[in-house]
Amino acid sequence: MIDVVVIGLGPAGLSAALKLAESGRTVKLVAKGEGGFQLSQGTVDILGYSPERVTSPLAAISGLPGGHPYVGIGADKVRDAVLWLRDTVGDELLVGDLAENYVLPTAVGAMRPTALAQPSMVAAHQASSYAVVGVRQLKDFPAELLAGNLGCQVAWVDLPARKEVDSSAHMFARAMDDPGYARRFASAVAAVAPKGAVLLLPAILGVKPGTWRRISDQLGRPIAEVPMQPPSVPGIRLHDALLAKFKAAGGRVIIGSRVVGCKTAGGRVASVTVAVAGGPRDLRASDFVFAPGGFASGAITVDSRGKISEPLFGLPLTQTDANAVVGPDYWAPHPLFEVGVETDDAGRAKYDNLYLAGDIIAGAERWREKSGEGIAVATAVRAAESIMGGRA
Ligand SMILES: Cc1cc2nc3c(=O)[nH]c(=O)nc-3n(C[C@H](O)[C@H](O)[C@H](O)COP(=O)(O)OP(=O)(O)OC[C@H]3O[C@@H](n4cnc5c(N)ncnc54)[C@H](O)[C@@H]3O)c2cc1C
Repeated sequence: MIDVVVIGLGPAGLSAALKLAESGRTVKLVAKGEGGFQLSQGTVDILGYSPERVTSPLAAISGLPGGHPYVGIGADKVRDAVLWLRDTVGDELLVGDLAENYVLPTAVGAMRPTALAQPSMVAAHQASSYAVVGVRQLKDFPAELLAGNLGCQVAWVDLPARKEVDSSAHMFARAMDDPGYARRFASAVAAVAPKGAVLLLPAILGVKPGTWRRISDQLGRPIAEVPMQPPSVPGIRLHDALLAKFKAAGGRVIIGSRVVGCKTAGGRVASVTVAVAGGPRDLRASDFVFAPGGFASGAITVDSRGKISEPLFGLPLTQTDANAVVGPDYWAPHPLFEVGVETDDAGRAKYDNLYLAGDIIAGAERWREKSGEGIAVATAVRAAESIMGGRA
């Protein structure tokens, strides 16, 4: 029998699965689709706003209200969990800590705080001046808008990745992993870039983590990648690295299959039912990590009468009436997004061997706080350590 089934391939599921596999557990990870890391900026937000912009996420955790997921875990354990992730992927992929947020430009020129960033991005933190480099054949990078909002110059490079006139970021990144193309790109940038300022480039500098450094070395000046719309190349880098480590640790993955049911007995989950090609299949395990996301991934649903529910395990939610937690003002806080499941100190809910991680847990408005990835990693590590501790 498998030791642990993990449901979900976002930051929470991947982190829990990797931690458990590295401890020697046999782990099977099941997901109906890709998770948040692939869709995100490739950074790890711990706490960006509370409600004002946060300088030190570690210090700000102690000021959060009682029901917040970080409070039950404690600031030190949040830090340990996030630094485990950073050190696991290595400093070619993540740098920074929880003492101070980086403040980095988005593709539209807003400045956003984040705790861990990719080394290819951090030259933009506290830079005294910027210049933007756009690529004519790259779609979805609004170089003029970015430069306009930052009040800086823009220069254009004309270098197709393939034959298309509007290639995606991923296509450019794959081309960039070829040293010959990367050299031509760096020469083209050098020919047009204004002198002096930190160069802001679209985040297309290789799917492989080290590619950006070759380009930076050839240019001989500070550059910073600016993440683009989902699926972003830096997000894919992070996701791929974690998934590869999980597989290398012996973990097995079923992607593209939804968990549609469960069998329970004596207060424990005995198995989950997965809809795979050829019909449903039961996966039995000693423990289960439930990391299916929240409203955005369909793990928590609202029906036409406004009834909120978690359909898979029927877990109790902090609120079941959507009409009570959605207001008419679009810009006002919407407590709907804080709805989720409360857990015990080990991260469990309803069943003795069901551990929760990530967006399914109640108490935070992640997208507003910029805390979703940190909560996902911290609760995933708690779940993994509870399972490891309970069976030591
Ligand atoms: C619009 C928006 C903006 C955001 N902005 C930020 C931000 O700036 N900073 C930040 O920190 N966070 C942000 N977040 C939140 C962040 O994306 C999430 O907190 C994070 O992805 C949660 O990770 P997770 O692993 O819990 O879930 P997810 O990343 O959602 O992953 C869930 C996984 O579970 C799988 N799954 C779900 N149900 C099933 C099932 N029945 N069977 C099998 N698999 C299943 C999914 O396919 C997926 O693989 C934002 C979210 C949204 C919606």
